[in-house]
Amino acid sequence: MSQEVRLAGIIRESIVDGPGYRFTVFCQGCPHRCEGCHNPQTHPFEGGKLVSIDRLFEEIKNTKLIKGVTFSGGEPFCQAKPLAELAKMIHGIGMDVITYTGYTYEELIEGANRENGWLELLQNSDYIIDGRFILSQRTLNLKFRGSKNQRIIDVKKSLEQGTAVTTEL
Ligand code: SF4
Repeated sequence: MSQEVRLAGIIRESIVDGPGYRFTVFCQGCPHRCEGCHNPQTHPFEGGKLVSIDRLFEEIKNTKLIKGVTFSGGEPFCQAKPLAELAKMIHGIGMDVITYTGYTYEELIEGANRENGWLELLQNSDYIIDGRFILSQRTLNLKFRGSKNQRIIDVKKSLEQGTAVTTEL
């Protein structure tokens, strides 16, 4: 049986979660509790609904015009293993994957272990948009980010170079 993810919801054709039309997966459950969070309903780990990654992949495949898939929150890295599997399937049909996270890239690298799947999800994300939402640093001027501390990180280059490599999309 395929792995499951606990979802808060999906948007089939989002234009605000990365370049082009994107299928956005909102994960349920977030430990960060950022002041001013736009999605507080995604915080409880018991909420939302469980969906198999096979079913989600079918929905993604059947959505026309999308360029890629974005994992958003909640905190995708709290469900890193099934999302890493889903990301592999998405890459298999030629689409890219962007993952939002409240953790910083450095926290993910330092905290990665066999159980949590953080490295697997990093390795299977083309880009991550990292860092908690910080209300005092809120901005409307940075594409795809809510506060100035957040970065768009090219994951492949970062893993190759051993340090966070930022980029723009
Ligand atoms: S990481 Fe994102 S979902 Fe979680 S509390 Fe912060 S802004 Fe909200």
